[in-house]
Parts: sequence; structure tokens; C-alpha cells
Amino acid sequence: MNNIFVYCEIEEGAIADVSLELLTKARSLADQLKCKVEAILLGSELNGMENEVLKYGVDILHIGEDKRLYPYLTLPHTKIIKSVFQKEKPQIALFGASSVGRDLAPRIASSLKCGLTADCTSLEIGDHYDKKNDTKFENLLLQIRPAFGGNIVATIINPETRPQLATVREGVMRKEIYKEDHKGQVKKIKVEDLLDESDFAISIVERHIENKRINIKNAGIIIAGGYGVGSKGNFKLLYELADVLGAEVGGSRAAVDAGFIEHERQIGQTGVTVRPKLYIACGISGQVQHRAGMTESAMVISINTDPHAPINQIADYVITGDISEVLPKMIKYYKKNSK
Ligand code: FAD
Repeated sequence: MNNIFVYCEIEEGAIADVSLELLTKARSLADQLKCKVEAILLGSELNGMENEVLKYGVDILHIGEDKRLYPYLTLPHTKIIKSVFQKEKPQIALFGASSVGRDLAPRIASSLKCGLTADCTSLEIGDHYDKKNDTKFENLLLQIRPAFGGNIVATIINPETRPQLATVREGVMRKEIYKEDHKGQVKKIKVEDLLDESDFAISIVERHIENKRINIKNAGIIIAGGYGVGSKGNFKLLYELADVLGAEVGGSRAAVDAGFIEHERQIGQTGVTVRPKLYIACGISGQVQHRAGMTESAMVISINTDPHAPINQIADYVITGDISEVLPKMIKYYKKNSK
């Protein structure tokens, strides 16, 4: 059985979180398929990064080191990965649905003439029976993602071409070290033999990096507000509770569209995906597009005036009531009990 490959992206001198999430997923898929996990790392000054990658369960790491490979450029990265894939013939290859992955994966797919599913939210292994041709395909990558404006969840397969390529959204998969001392093999890619001047027809003249002002992705507790919060002013209650609990504040798209909260805090299909230990949903109905971004939360508390709000179906605790009455009580009692 051929192996599963993950392209490891480098962000500011470290492996991007989405790549580590993909390595974790690749490890569990590989265990199921009884194959190996291979990773590709391209850049410059990669000292020590191999150890960071290997402990996520990587069996073979392909490293291409050259000062021209960082920051990312489409042409050289595509050429190197294409050449590695042509030699190693992976059955599955995964990329982050980041700006780099969204640029790179379609290039690889088109150069290898294989399919690509973008923006997956889940990956599984399964079989498919093609009734028309009476053919059974075993152990395919089931590439799962919302489709038609999020109204359905589609499962997409590439039965015939290899590799089965997918990009996966940041934050939707768990990131977990496999074994601190996992032993893998490191293979150096002879970058200079693969690249020529034409691959550097485009050069980066200047980079402007702006740090994220808000980072709710890694928050342990999130107080999320929806349209039911009623106004930007009422969101102050959520910030106050967040202060007491050491939490971050997030919101639904309806709350963002109404101008109650910044877009960077939007949770859901077209916002950020989060997996906090505690998610307190205040005045959020829980439409499928919102749930897509928070369903992996370890515990959900819903505060809603409507006892039949869809969010209540996935909530561990439901408080039926008006947030203007419930939140001040929560703030008061949490303050009292955390002293
Ligand atoms: P509503 O559905 O209006 O719900 C408000 C809730 O507040 C109700 O349940 C109500 O009972 C309750 N309420 C009212 N007053 C109070 C009160 N005083 N106290 C307590 N509860 C009260 N949505 C997202 O969130 N994230 C996304 O990323 C996203 N992406 C989308 C992508 C597409 C392609 C589409 C089509 C839609 C997307 N949506 C997204 C929108 C989504 O379908 C819903 O419209 C949105 O999530 C609804 O937000 P809400 O729950 O805040 O508002």
C-alpha cells in the first residue's frame, strides 16, 4: 500500500498548526490503512524542525533546504513536490487550506492530472460501489466538506486517480503529538538538481506581515454571542463574563453582519473553527453553518429564550432565559466563587 503525504508549511520559522493537525490525522488514517506517513518540508534554515515533525508520527520526512525556498514561491515548491510525488506515488496527499495550500495544491493536482477536494472539514477511509460499472473501490479517502452554501455535507471521492489530494481547513482537526521519541527516516531532496532559473521568474521584493489582532482559535473558553444579544452595547456583558473566566469572545455571522462584533471573531463555516474546553453560546440559534465551527467543543452551554433552539440539541447544559438576566447572574456567581 502506498503512503500518505503531508505538505508541512512554515510560518515565521515554525511549522504551521494546520500542518501539525494534518500530520495527526494522517497518522490515524495510515494506521487504518497500514501504510506509512511521509512529510515534505521545504525552506531554509530548517535546523531542528525535523524533530518537531517526526514526533507527530512521521515515518519518512523529505527535506528540501535552500535559501530560495523561503518565503514560499509557487513555482519551485510545485516543481519539487511534483517530482517527489512522481517518484514516491502517494495514495493520499494533504495540504492546509491556507493561502499557501490553496495556491499549491491545485497546481500539484493539475500537473499530476488528479482530483482535488478543497476545504475539507473531515477525512475518513471507506469503500465505494459504482453500480453503473459494477466496480467496488476499497479504502478510498472520503473527503467530507459542506457544499451548496453549507446546506448539505458532501462526501467526495477520487476512485481512479492518485494521489487523492485534499486541502483541510485550519482548526478542524486535532493536533496531537504521537510519540516524543518516534523514530523516522530523514531524506534530503537534491533541490539544486530540480530547480533552474526559470523557477524564480517571480521574486518577492518586500513582505509585510501583520500579526493577528484577535486569536480565538486557541482559546480554552469561548463566550459566543449571536443576533439574540441584541446590540453591540449588550456584548459588553459577554466581555465582562469573558474577563472573569479568562475567556475569548466570539460571535455568529448574524452578530457580525449586524455590526455587534468584528469579523475576526466570527465562528463557523465562513469564520474560524474552534474546539475550546467550554463554549457558552448566548442568543445563538445554532444553524448548521455556525455549528460547523464549534461542534468539536468539549462542553457547550446554551443560553437562549427559545427552549427549542437547534443549538440546544448539541448543548450539554441549556439555560432557558434572557441573556440580560442570565449573564449578570453568571458574572456575579463566577466572581464570587473564583475568589
Ligand atoms: P438567529 O438565527 O437569528 O438566532 C438568534 C437566537 O437568539 C434565537 O435562537 C433566539 O431564540 C435567541 N434570542 C433572541 N433574543 C434572546 C435573548 N434576549 N436572550 C437569549 N436568547 C435570545 N453563521 C455563523 O454563525 N457562522 C458562519 O460562519 C456562517 N457561515 C455561513 C455561510 C453560508 C454560505 C450561509 C448561507 C450562512 C452562514 N451563516 C453562518 C449564517 C447562518 O445560517 C445563520 O444565519 C446564523 O448563524 C444565525 O446567527 P444567530 O444564531 O446569531 O441568529
